[in-house]
Order: sequence, then structure tokens, then C-alpha cells
Amino acid sequence: TLAIALNHVAKRYGATVALSDATFAVETGATHALLGENGAGKSTLVKILSGVVRPDAGEIAFFDRPVQLANREDSSRLGLETAFQEIPLVPDLTVEQNILLPDEPRKFGFLRDRRAARRRVAQVLADLQLHDIDPADEVRDLDLSVRQKIEIARAISRRPKILLLDEPSAALSSRDVRWLGDRIAALRSAGTTIVLITHRMQEVRDYCSALSVLRNGKHVGSFAAKDVSDAD
Ligand code: ADP
Ligand code: ADP
Repeated sequence: TLAIALNHVAKRYGATVALSDATFAVETGATHALLGENGAGKSTLVKILSGVVRPDAGEIAFFDRPVQLANREDSSRLGLETAFQEIPLVPDLTVEQNILLPDEPRKFGFLRDRRAARRRVAQVLADLQLHDIDPADEVRDLDLSVRQKIEIARAISRRPKILLLDEPSAALSSRDVRWLGDRIAALRSAGTTIVLITHRMQEVRDYCSALSVLRNGKHVGSFAAKDVSDAD
């Protein structure tokens, strides 16, 4: 089965064509790289799959079911979580609040049941080997690398069936890149479908079973990762 199927998806911003005809499929359980130059439409594709941006045309299916995504909660309900590059954590909130926010975005239940909230966040940070992160810290006071790590951890902690990572290692230190590699390996063994936007061929070789290339808003090809030579 296909975890994700995109058919003829198009999106413009005013006169700018971000995606002209994107057709893209991801096998269930794959770790699938999405490559392309700046401006190719990769982030737009991720935002469409997350429900943050609405396509002008085309169809989307998750696990062979057509979906209509009006907002981020819709994709979350269907088991898809995203670690964004450009849509950061909420800077005015603490790490703990950011991790809990998607659970009850409107009710702010974490403000009422403090003890349960603290327990859940401690569990999330321990499960993800983030012992060095203080849940009480305000996000605005943290380095970009720590924020990116928490953004990734927040997405993983929701136990998605499909995880979208938009350039997850862009701001990470080499130690944190190893942390990310361990997380990806664990998710892959658990059968999670992963879409990884990256510019780093090393990451494609290390983690990915397949890759797709976008150029000027069009899908130009998909390949098995084993068919991509080390020369690239
Ligand atoms: P990346 O290549 O990392 O995806 P871009 O440089 O394409 O990032 O875009 C950075 C941010 O600016 C994104 O949030 C994108 O949506 C926004 N953006 C890009 N181009 C424009 C534009 N012409 N007008 C307004 N916003 C834009
Ligand atoms: P990539 O992630 O591959 O760099 P993007 O999806 O960010 O590509 O951008 C695709 C095209 O759409 C680029 O030309 C970019 O400038 C444009 N674009 C992206 N977001 C916006 C936006 N919010 N407003 C206007 N143009 C945008």
C-alpha cells in the first residue's frame, strides 16, 4: 500500500507557481527522500500534506484513502506529523507547553492538570534521549539547534504513522545529527513511513529506501536509493 499518493497537485502564490504538477507516491514503511533545488516546491509539498497550505488542484490520499485537509489538525488526526523548518515552535511558550500544545490546542488542558502534563513531557524527553533539555525553558531563550531538536521530538512524540521532516538536520550539531540518525533508525524499524527533505546525499544513502526529485514544481522522477550511485 501507499502511505502517501499525490496526483497532479498544483499550487500558486500569486503569479509564482510553487507546484505545477506534482505526482508523488510513498510506500508504506519507506524512508523516502525528497530532493530538489531551492524553490523547487519541496516545502510547499510538505505544507500541503500537513494541511497548512491548500492546493489549487489535484488529489491527495493517505493509505489509499482520499483526504481533504483543511488544517493541521486534520492531517494529525490521520496520523501524519510534521517537523517544519519554517514554522517554528511557539517562542512565548515553554518546551513543555510546546510539546503538549497539539494535544489540546484550544482548551490548554495542560495548564489545568500540571502533574499529568509534567509526567507526559518527562516521558517524551526520556524516550527520545533528550535528558539535557529542561521542559521549563522558554523556547525564545534556546539556540536554533535545540529548537530544531524539540520540533523533531514534538512530531515523533505524537507517534505518527507518517512523519514529514523538512531539512531536519539543517541547524543540528554533529552530535545532534547522530541523535537524529538514531531516531530515524528506531522509527524505521517500527514501520513508520518517513519523508525526509534534505540536501545531503549522505543522509539519503544512510537512511533512505527511495527518493524523489522535484524541479520547478514538477516531479521529475523517483528512484530506489540503492540505484543511486555514490558518485552523486
Ligand atoms: P526553502 O528553500 O528553505 O524552502 P525559501 O527560501 O523558498 O525556503 O522560502 C523561505 C520562506 O519564505 C518560506 O516561508 C516561503 O514560504 C516564503 N517565501 C518564499 N518565497 C516567497 C515570496 N516570493 N513571497 C513571500 N514569501 C515567500
Ligand atoms: P523549496 O522548499 O523547494 O525551496 P518552496 O516550496 O519553498 O520550495 O517554494 C517554491 C516556490 O514558491 C518558490 O519560488 C518560492 O519563492 C515560492 N513561495 C513559497 N512560499 C511562498 C509564499 N508564501 N508566497 C509567495 N511565494 C512563495
